[in-house]
Amino acid sequence: MKKRLICIFMAAVFAICLLSGCGDKTDSGNGTSAGDATAAQTPAESETQTVQTGGIWHELNVIDDNYRNYYEIFVLSFYDSDGDGVGDLNGVTEKLDYIKDMGFNGIWLMPIMPSPTYHKYDVIDYCAIDKQYGTIDDFKKLVEECHKRDIRLVIDFVINHSSTKNEWFIQAKDYLKGLEAGAEPDLEECPYVGYYHFSKTKENGTYYKVGGSEWYYEGSFWSEMPDLNLADENLRKELQDIAKYWIDMGVDGFRMDAAMHFEESDVNFNTEVLNWLFSYCKELNPDFYMVSEVWAGSSTISDYYASKTPSMFNFDLADAEGKIIKAARGKYSAANLVKAMRSYQEEYAEHNPDYIDAPFITNHDMGRVSNALVKKENNVKMAGGLLLMMNGSPFVYYGEEIGMASSGSKDENKRLPMIWSSKDTTGMTKGPSAADKGIESAFAPADEQLEDENSILNYYKRGLRLRNENPEIARGKITLVEELCVEDQAAITKEYDGSTIGILYNISEEEIQVDIKGTALEEMSIRGYLTLNTDEAITLSDGVVTMPAKSICILKQE
Ligand code: CA
Repeated sequence: MKKRLICIFMAAVFAICLLSGCGDKTDSGNGTSAGDATAAQTPAESETQTVQTGGIWHELNVIDDNYRNYYEIFVLSFYDSDGDGVGDLNGVTEKLDYIKDMGFNGIWLMPIMPSPTYHKYDVIDYCAIDKQYGTIDDFKKLVEECHKRDIRLVIDFVINHSSTKNEWFIQAKDYLKGLEAGAEPDLEECPYVGYYHFSKTKENGTYYKVGGSEWYYEGSFWSEMPDLNLADENLRKELQDIAKYWIDMGVDGFRMDAAMHFEESDVNFNTEVLNWLFSYCKELNPDFYMVSEVWAGSSTISDYYASKTPSMFNFDLADAEGKIIKAARGKYSAANLVKAMRSYQEEYAEHNPDYIDAPFITNHDMGRVSNALVKKENNVKMAGGLLLMMNGSPFVYYGEEIGMASSGSKDENKRLPMIWSSKDTTGMTKGPSAADKGIESAFAPADEQLEDENSILNYYKRGLRLRNENPEIARGKITLVEELCVEDQAAITKEYDGSTIGILYNISEEEIQVDIKGTALEEMSIRGYLTLNTDEAITLSDGVVTMPAKSICILKQE
């Protein structure tokens, strides 16, 4: 009864707060947590981190394993440490506290090796750092500083193709040019010929002439990206040496580019390649991580889990037509979303019981989430909230946390400079030179969003905080609470290591009331929640959870 009175009192305070525009920091530190007797206690740290108010805070419970919260960085556009306008490794190091403070404990760096292109997905030298980005010593420093902060570092390892300017390709081409007409290459004389797909016939439209010879080479993405022949034993030995080079330097994982293109649509071959490389890396570091790009639906992704490598990016959830953005804009129901989550669990685990899903909303190949959601802040937040409640290791593309914009289908426009500030140009990069000018974000720069507790950035922080308090979110086995999964309302439980939480979703535009009596959530109380703004609370009273529009609630039996 006492608890109920508190609820009524708090609901009244809440209503008054709303009417009087109660958003300022002095009032919102606690007290929004009606419905849970323990909730009014706010850990001491929130006194210094006023941005992390609202919701109910518990001790961090971060497990040191390969379930991580990843932040994807395009180094060129991230942070420039030396004033030349080009983002660099030292710039990433300078921003590690920003990344860590948001709640991330993993970073994926897009390619950092020497390359003739701005994006660097065509590698000239696999054992070096592109001069634009810095030096090997800078990289070692970055690794060290990451590890000091318990951040794991994953780098892009592009083995589907190299650059035409790679010494391997140059040597192979020169050798073939020197062959007499009709002669066959001798791999003893030039092993590099075996590294690529050379042919005397133009096998298809993706074969290009080796000038001054009777040979063609395959470049399935682009003429300047010759495909590597991953069946070649010499190349495999070379790739192992390269993997060792980076692992010895402290790299914690590889992001495998274009894994379904190693041999076009040859799942058996491609999964064997992933398994072979991952097995080797695991010998060097038993905790080694790998996440692969298989840009396909969930059934193909399932097939790739047969590689027994930990993670595949979950493309079924991603991009403008993926399930997260569709749910956030009201075109896909919460009930269907949790069903999809359960089916990933069933499908993926069948092929690899140790799989770690890798959900994401967008990456460097996709239009920004704020564009897909027509810059509606509540929907941008909702998308982030749905992502951050997913199983596995979520990947957040830099700038997503401030709702940055993109424009059209041009890749450069998806990789624009991180917007740190509108007043201070320190660290600001020029970004890709071919990007269109004048693409403006609808939302404030990072420095302003840090100070605004109701910003997208602080919403992300609250979501990440919930992940870091509740290891069940990433690791738990999902069971649907079927009777509560209706249209834009859904409920699941996640069980991990003998501990179970409930997650309630309201993705609708309306406040809803969810009666949890007689359900699997019945004995639970509110453990934390994610609302659009910090002056909105989720309450539990007499077995009924009241949820504001677009909110997510974590429940647990304490
Ligand atoms: Ca620079």
